[in-house]
Amino acid sequence: MSEGSIRGFGYSLDELSIFFESEYGKGPYHAEALFRQLYTEGNAKVSGTREYRPSAALAEKVERDFNVCLPEIDRTIDDSGTRKFSLSFEDGALTESVIIPMAEWETLCISSQVGCGRGCTFCETAEMGLLRNLKTEEIIAQWAAARFNMGTKPRNIVFMGMGEPFDNFDAVILAIDILSDQRGAAIPKRRISISTSGHVDGIRRLMELENRFPDRAYRTIHLAVSLNASNDIIRSRLMPINRVWPMKELKSALLNSPQSRIKDALYFEYVIIPGVNDDIKHADELNLWMEGMEAKVNLIPYHPTGSSLWSAPDEESLKLFHSVVRSSGRECRTRKSRGKGIEAACGMLGKNSRFSRSVP
Ligand code: SF4
Repeated sequence: MSEGSIRGFGYSLDELSIFFESEYGKGPYHAEALFRQLYTEGNAKVSGTREYRPSAALAEKVERDFNVCLPEIDRTIDDSGTRKFSLSFEDGALTESVIIPMAEWETLCISSQVGCGRGCTFCETAEMGLLRNLKTEEIIAQWAAARFNMGTKPRNIVFMGMGEPFDNFDAVILAIDILSDQRGAAIPKRRISISTSGHVDGIRRLMELENRFPDRAYRTIHLAVSLNASNDIIRSRLMPINRVWPMKELKSALLNSPQSRIKDALYFEYVIIPGVNDDIKHADELNLWMEGMEAKVNLIPYHPTGSSLWSAPDEESLKLFHSVVRSSGRECRTRKSRGKGIEAACGMLGKNSRFSRSVP
């Protein structure tokens, strides 16, 4: 696979228009037709479009320059219909994505990095370390593979695969801008979630973007903050990022972000780990910490794997924790961990990934 074969997915429409002007002496009219073709058909076959009918030579050039060839897909299917797939890039990097069937639609979980450098102790991806950031076109290629090679039509996209999305801020935001563009894939930003381990700089940068470009509606991107603890002592043990940005600083950044004032835009993910963070006093402490924020809570039962330090929580303690959070009037759901059979549950991506470290 040559890198050029997904190059079209790396351009916003504005950037594509600039490229068309400098390379072909053409403008947005022809660029927009290519953009539409890429995101509605998954190819660059523009010769049949009304915009290119009078210019066969240009169509030929554009089709050659932007020919789409998605990386090879490995597929695994589990019992409940959850499908994990991997894309292999030319440097050997292998990324992983998951298609999760919901009652009436499909959600696509994608990666922003190969591996992750944040070192959360409950996460399989952390064991890989950070191998590299994904480029915008590699992030979008995961959506394109799900849409055009696997025939799904994901309604929601969640950046919950490998990586801390805010550690790859620019590539992730450009991918969201491109995927939400009405003239292409047209996935509204309110259907896109960024899952962060509590990257305060990233939360602040997103807010700055919202302030600078209110018409782009960055405020509607959902934030899912992987919290997993009710105080700094436990959180710093589970998630080293908490030593950089402790919970007080995290809360202050969230209180300033528009997501904490918009209904349904802010979630806290809390993996329940027996003997670590599952006591009633932790639920009380959590309620206190969340005061002032319009946010929902997702409780995720810890799912042990081969090298796990902890066991899975029992039903009783899950129910108790859930009821204490609910007693504060806050919406709280206990999530089923989907895809256990294919290692696609939360924090399980990346375990089987391979990557040649010798390749620069
Ligand atoms: S939980 Fe997220 S941020 Fe933490 S190591 Fe895993 S992928 Fe990285």
